[in-house]
Amino acid sequence: MNSNHDYWDPAMEGLGRAELEALQLMRLQRTLGQALKSPFYAARLKQHGFSGPMERLEDFRRLPFTTKQDLRDSYPYGFLCVPRDQLVRLHVSSGTTGQATAIFYSRKDLDSWSDLMARCMYMTGARAGDTFQNLTGYGLFTGGLGFHYGAERLGMLTIPSGPGNSKRQIQLMRDFSTNVLHIIPSYALRLMEVMSAAGIDPKQSLRLKIAFLGAEPYSEEVRNRVQQFYGIKVFNSYGLSEMNGPGVAFECVEQNGLHIWEDAYLVEVVDPHTLEPVADGTVGELVLTTLDREGMPLIRYRTKDLTRMLTGACGCGRVHRRLDRIRGRTDDMFIIKGVNIFPIQVEQVLMGIPEVGGNYRIVLTRADNVDQMKVQVEVTDRVFVEDMRQLQRLRRKIAKSLCDEILVTPEVELVEPYGLPRSEGKAVRLVDERAR
Ligand code: ADP
Ligand code: ZN
Repeated sequence: MNSNHDYWDPAMEGLGRAELEALQLMRLQRTLGQALKSPFYAARLKQHGFSGPMERLEDFRRLPFTTKQDLRDSYPYGFLCVPRDQLVRLHVSSGTTGQATAIFYSRKDLDSWSDLMARCMYMTGARAGDTFQNLTGYGLFTGGLGFHYGAERLGMLTIPSGPGNSKRQIQLMRDFSTNVLHIIPSYALRLMEVMSAAGIDPKQSLRLKIAFLGAEPYSEEVRNRVQQFYGIKVFNSYGLSEMNGPGVAFECVEQNGLHIWEDAYLVEVVDPHTLEPVADGTVGELVLTTLDREGMPLIRYRTKDLTRMLTGACGCGRVHRRLDRIRGRTDDMFIIKGVNIFPIQVEQVLMGIPEVGGNYRIVLTRADNVDQMKVQVEVTDRVFVEDMRQLQRLRRKIAKSLCDEILVTPEVELVEPYGLPRSEGKAVRLVDERAR
């Protein structure tokens, strides 16, 4: 065990690889025993011929996968492993991609989730005594309450400000010297515009030092913009309701990949078509097994999120492996003129262009049987919307840069600042109007 580091949970964060794997095997056995108490796994595992303890950790790869569809089919109680009266929380996934799914938590589940969240934030330098402002949705979205309980566990003064009402957010930041933020990337960009329009330079007039950005895909370019404008360090935060919510994987001070907490989750990356494991460094679908949940354990859950395992040791000393930035969900990909594209590739290009503002949208249409791709881009308030020639140049520059990246030249429509619709929750980046 490594005791030279300042860890929130030295027993778990300081484990060596062999100790970690021994713990995983033990927790996996316990999880399987627990899972068998649910109607779903009792039937599924039996059907699969699973009988009793597993001797080697690798053997879990012979277990069946669990999908979002399974969760939907067994809604609401098919996955429940404890009596109803032992549950203290219910979350419903925000349903970005269809019918909702229900996730249950026992008191112990909430407790270990809060600890994981505290561990994540502590890892980035957040400390008791800091002021934490939580600018994400409370309610059924797990991001709000997950961070809230974790921040209180850590001992930060926690302001549950929720999303929106930017003026009040800024006021709270001023009045209480907020230095730690949790905010989704699209709102961080929006708030930036509100501050610039009001002539506020957060580097001068606020005390911010750290922000946690997650819940939706974003590019390194967005991280850079947010870091520069607010004068802070931005850490990527990943999770999903099915695995508690946030707190599954998080960046450390190195800001180079997200440590996935392997004492709590067993991680695989598989080819989404063959479902065979891919080599480290190769992009595939993330598959997770919970190792520390009693209310609703999940085995080999297909997250639909695409990422890859990073190789090599992390400078921070933790052996928990690192995931690369999530590129999006398998179903975010769209095909246009025979080319496969992820919205994040478009974002990466746009956010590298200084005249581009904080919001964009990809609109797909079909005319005369030909697919058309349009990218609507808000410009910053430094662009003179009256200067036609400047606008033409900018449109051409954006179209060319996009073509270099995605190999398709989209139509580019420039929109004035704040011109595009916004959602309070996760941003909608893709509007597909092609008739199916
Ligand atoms: P929904 O599936 O309805 O959006 P969740 O709130 O559970 O409900 O969202 C979890 C999903 O959000 C993840 O599966 C992933 O697609 C996305 N996500 C969460 N954090 C990140 C992140 N840091 N980067 C990219 N995508 C993320
Ligand atoms: Zn690290």
